Amino acid sequence: MPKVTLSQYPTPLEPAPRLAAALGLGPNDLWIKRDDLLGPGGGGNKVRKLEWLCGAAIEAGATALVTSGAAQSNHARLTAAAGARLGLDVVLVLAGAPQANENGNIVLDGLFGARIVWAGTDSLDERAAETAAELGEGASLIPFGGTSLDSVEGYVSCADEILAEIPAVNTIVAAVGSGGTMAGLVRRLGAERVLGVDCGAVSDPVDRVLHFANRPIDREQLRFRHDLVGEGYAVLSDSVAAAMTLVARTEGLVLDPVYSGRAAAGLVAAVEDSTIKAGERTVLLHSGGLPGLFGHRGAVEFGLRQAGHPR
Ligand SMILES: *Cc1c(COP(=O)(O)O)cnc(C)c1O
Repeated sequence: MPKVTLSQYPTPLEPAPRLAAALGLGPNDLWIKRDDLLGPGGGGNKVRKLEWLCGAAIEAGATALVTSGAAQSNHARLTAAAGARLGLDVVLVLAGAPQANENGNIVLDGLFGARIVWAGTDSLDERAAETAAELGEGASLIPFGGTSLDSVEGYVSCADEILAEIPAVNTIVAAVGSGGTMAGLVRRLGAERVLGVDCGAVSDPVDRVLHFANRPIDREQLRFRHDLVGEGYAVLSDSVAAAMTLVARTEGLVLDPVYSGRAAAGLVAAVEDSTIKAGERTVLLHSGGLPGLFGHRGAVEFGLRQAGHPR
């Protein structure tokens, strides 16, 4: 399979002793895998998958990339950046309609030169397919979340990077959106060493991870938490806000309210119910999402309250 290189590897795997202590873990029990530092475009997990998708698109003679997502899609923003880096036009089919006071990922989509098509309440998959058909032969349709059977190899590589440094890793905690990140980790590590935190992005996360892992694994074997979805994908819950401030104040790292903050809240919950214990080796995957924080009204309000900002 053809693949382009968009980033430098391996990403850092940093010890997180102050976060570990705050959770009641030992100082050498916890690491954070810094996939938020994958470049270009502001970082995030989609870069690993886009290397495979863009490689295949270029091999097939593509001159444009078409993909879809939520208005604040990190995947859309990173597709826009990858297209800019590779000299491909990018069209983003985004859910809903443009809102007043928009911020975050959409600002960056614009800077990277992507064209945005607002899908309203139409099916994103259908509008993206139509848009690609209108553009003709040179358009390559990048799947939702950049997840395909081939692209999840990007997270097989991530698992290899972690194994190279921590061969006996017990648990990698990762946010689950379109499912590709968890699927790639499971493809390499098996089901028992990966804990997926459902972010409520799709209705069938377990089916998706099973399908894209493409290994003989039973659905009961997959380790999932569905208790962090809260009131839904785009709603900042108290547990996620608490996890974001905890990681910010112990390790100086910014998580996003939709994905990486939920992964951290899942880690907190897993330590509380002893799914994850002191003396084990645990990795929290930081999958990026910082621009999305500034596009999330609830998270911005929460941060301003922490700053004592008069509202
Ligand atoms: C998309 C995304 C995820 C989820 O990854 P999937 O491979 O779609 O499951 C996690 N974190 C961030 C920041 C993301 O943008």
